[in-house]
Amino acid sequence: MSTSADILANIAAIQRRIDVACQLYQRRSQPTLIAVTKTRSAAEMASAINAGISDIGENYLQEALDKQAELRVQPKQWHFIGPIQANKTRAIASHFDWVHSVDRAKIITRLNDQRPAELAPLNICLQVNINDEASKAGASQDEIAQLAELALQQPRLRLRGLMAIPANTADQEQQRRNFAAVRSIFTDLQTQFPSAALDTLSMGMSGDMEAAIAEGATLVRIGSDIFGPRSSPSR
Ligand SMILES: *Cc1c(COP(=O)(O)O)cnc(C)c1O
Repeated sequence: MSTSADILANIAAIQRRIDVACQLYQRRSQPTLIAVTKTRSAAEMASAINAGISDIGENYLQEALDKQAELRVQPKQWHFIGPIQANKTRAIASHFDWVHSVDRAKIITRLNDQRPAELAPLNICLQVNINDEASKAGASQDEIAQLAELALQQPRLRLRGLMAIPANTADQEQQRRNFAAVRSIFTDLQTQFPSAALDTLSMGMSGDMEAAIAEGATLVRIGSDIFGPRSSPSR
């Protein structure tokens, strides 16, 4: 487990990397840093929030609910970024501000129908499976426009943009090609739905953050480079 001094120093280092990348790639506005906290303790999360993190991303519903209840300090926004089972949509729609991993029609209509009336509309991103990997969640590129049209009809949802987790590679040029492909689908959507407020590209993790910033990421999702390596590698 990382100490709060480690976490504070790591967040400062990430913020410097974001500054450098924004300067290098001439980005006018900085992406928002989401701290990804799957497998991390509530104490580690509190350290990150106390170090200035405003946005927290979680992959597993029950784990997230347990830690939301345990935390004394709250982030500004909770992001759900993991695979979505249909029987979990009610709790996801009630306990998060954003859902990044929306990839099928059934999930769109359930999240809309189950978003509590007293809360603001739920921000969503459609997850695109950019390298068509059988092992990965996400809609295919061909399905995205239809899903976007459906999402834009839902009064309790706000479609904000796209999320992607490209195939893992250390090759920066390949990383950039993958993220550029996501951006191209995004700009097509903006053209097709000009009245929609599509402003979000959720892309970039610890190993490929700079490439994502180069290609226009507005939300970056960082776990290991804030909290250290995860002990169970499969998660
Ligand atoms: C785990 C995870 C991250 C963070 O990954 P790191 O490599 O630890 O930075 C980002 N996005 C999603 C969807 C994840 O599951």
